[in-house]
Amino acid sequence: MTDWTPAHIQARFATLNTWRRAGVRAPHKPLLLLFALGRILRGEPRLVRFGDVERHLDGLIAEFGPPRKHTRGRARYPFWHLCNDGLWELPQRAAIIAGGLDRSNEPPIAVLREARGGFPEALHLQLVAQPWLCVTLIEQLIAGHFPASYREDIRAAIGVPHSAFHAKVLAEQVARAMRFAAPRDPAFRKALLDMWSGRCAVCGFEARYADRPFGVEAAHIKWHAAGGPDTPDNGLLLCVLHHRALDRGLLGLRADNTIKIAPGVHAEGVARQRLVDFDGRPLGDGGPAPALDPAFIAWHDAQVYRCR
Ligand SMILES: [Zn+2]
Repeated sequence: MTDWTPAHIQARFATLNTWRRAGVRAPHKPLLLLFALGRILRGEPRLVRFGDVERHLDGLIAEFGPPRKHTRGRARYPFWHLCNDGLWELPQRAAIIAGGLDRSNEPPIAVLREARGGFPEALHLQLVAQPWLCVTLIEQLIAGHFPASYREDIRAAIGVPHSAFHAKVLAEQVARAMRFAAPRDPAFRKALLDMWSGRCAVCGFEARYADRPFGVEAAHIKWHAAGGPDTPDNGLLLCVLHHRALDRGLLGLRADNTIKIAPGVHAEGVARQRLVDFDGRPLGDGGPAPALDPAFIAWHDAQVYRCR
């Protein structure tokens, strides 16, 4: 019998951070858990039929998951296999197994679509009774598997009520959850500001207010959540737009420090000028660019860049 104390629940969710092996991203299980936590905060029932949520889950994996082929249809993976982590339950699981599994140890898709899944009941009751814990777990999962720039988009995609993040009673708990994110090195931002002369490495954007830079951010090429270091050879100074584009994989880097824009990006007018037209241009507008570690560029290329 599992004792679902808040500390135990947080620890169990944290052990999902196994994807750091070899730096390969596997956010399928975290995305299913985020989806299910959003359901709890909206007061929806514990169990949900896979066929009813498959499209939504596939969409989450396609939008926030790695840029692999065959991403569509992969929602069945976490919905079935998360049971092994003890955080998910399919009441008909034994009967489904008796009916036969395929080579991936998964049931036929038609069978799975009729199955219902959800948090184990004892865990579900704890989560329903403690919405602050759900919020804490959401922040913990996002911080553990994605860059900070994904937070708002993931919260919106899983339908977390905005009010959940503003209630005073939650403030301390959210602050606690944020500590799951590794502490940031302020020297990283300073080094990048110096190195790139305060200008976005892609577009040259530079603005100051009260003599402080505005609208430029320190971006990691290999994500901090994936173990990327706070060193200038893993960083770019980017404006807000190009930081988002890098983190979402719409903007990538070639080994010769030129910029590439994902082929799926469609933009016209000013958006074309600010995004697509940088394809093929050198970082830092052709000036002497700081040395970036090719290993971090290769990681971003394999795990984040939207090559299709
Ligand atoms: Zn820019």
